[in-house]
Amino acid sequence: MTDDADAKDWNLATRLVRGGTLRSGFGETSEALFLNSAYVYASAEEAEARFSAGGKGFKYGRYSHPNLQMLQDRLALMEGAEACAAVASGMAAVFAAMMCQLKAGDHVVANRVIFSSCQYIITQVLPRFGITYTLVGGQDYDEWRSAITPATRCVFIETPANPTLELIDIAAVAECCKAAGARLIVDNVFSTPLAQHPLELGADIVIYSTTKHIDGQGRTLGGAILGSRAFIDEEAMPFCRHTGPHMSHFNAWLILKSLETLPLRVARHCGTAAAIAQWLEAQPQVARVTYPGLRSHPQYAVARKQMNSGGPLIAFELKGGKKAAFAFMNRLKIIDISNNFGDAKTLITHPASTTHHSLGRETLQRIGIGEGLIRLSVGLEDEADLIKDLGQALRGE
Ligand SMILES: *Cc1c(COP(=O)(O)O)cnc(C)c1O
Repeated sequence: MTDDADAKDWNLATRLVRGGTLRSGFGETSEALFLNSAYVYASAEEAEARFSAGGKGFKYGRYSHPNLQMLQDRLALMEGAEACAAVASGMAAVFAAMMCQLKAGDHVVANRVIFSSCQYIITQVLPRFGITYTLVGGQDYDEWRSAITPATRCVFIETPANPTLELIDIAAVAECCKAAGARLIVDNVFSTPLAQHPLELGADIVIYSTTKHIDGQGRTLGGAILGSRAFIDEEAMPFCRHTGPHMSHFNAWLILKSLETLPLRVARHCGTAAAIAQWLEAQPQVARVTYPGLRSHPQYAVARKQMNSGGPLIAFELKGGKKAAFAFMNRLKIIDISNNFGDAKTLITHPASTTHHSLGRETLQRIGIGEGLIRLSVGLEDEADLIKDLGQALRGE
């Protein structure tokens, strides 16, 4: 069994293979899948002890289970966070991270370009409970400074943003939060846990949809909330235990095993994405490429400051708008059209007509999601095969 103190001395790859492992009495090498909802006790006294304050051991699946605990411990080690709560989806993570700490009268600030379901929670759900919000344009830090006031309890940002890959300076927003006493929540899905470390930049809470690169093979949904031991134990965990969003046994086991290969996969995703972004920029049919690893990215300086790679996703626009985009996507032979990303398979999306459709034409235009914008999630296939596929589809062969 892993000793916590030892695991903290390990480097990332070792943490992701061995961190949090709990072995049963059978001595299995690979972590076992425990499919049980409840537990038995040797005596009434043992049951009483487990239910007493500070009692150790599992009691019921909605509270915790061995696969969940292993996953949470490993994810915390990955992020360099004190603790983690793993839940059923990325959206469950976003919702629980906010609802566990907000109350009527609180104020929330978020960036304007965020995943549409996050925007739904902030603009449609929270106001019903008397929680107000302000949406801020990403780059104007005076706007952030004036939006974040002492009434602001949480600030929620996503960088790189989905799907425009616009960046926000995490340290600059963290400073505004500290000054106002607000907590900064960073949705770190688009960078992957390897390319960017929000806690080191001053964030209080980090959110993942493990559905994306952490699973990485398109099999399960999942989410994680990472932060201080006090926040997880006293706010996030009681909320999750009593409202029921914790990740299931099977999904927790699967994600746990996925973490073992995460650094290898992400290095490959990001390496191929960098090559494809550079190649796309040189194609005559392409009007614009937005990729944090390219010098042409509008916030390249921010990318250099807070990311250690350009990440696994590329946004680009073709000359000819939606018509050209659809024709190009329909000609692809290897790359699949999908609304998802973060898969071993390279996936392509037209956000304005799918993932971000619900925002409406006017909002889409205001936040820079044009009719010609295409999002590419670079997978694990051979780089030359992908470039060949993109090339034939661009040329219309
Ligand atoms: C996918 C995604 C989510 C939601 O995650 P689910 O697992 O689909 O619930 C939240 N934020 C970002 C940035 C995402 O890409």
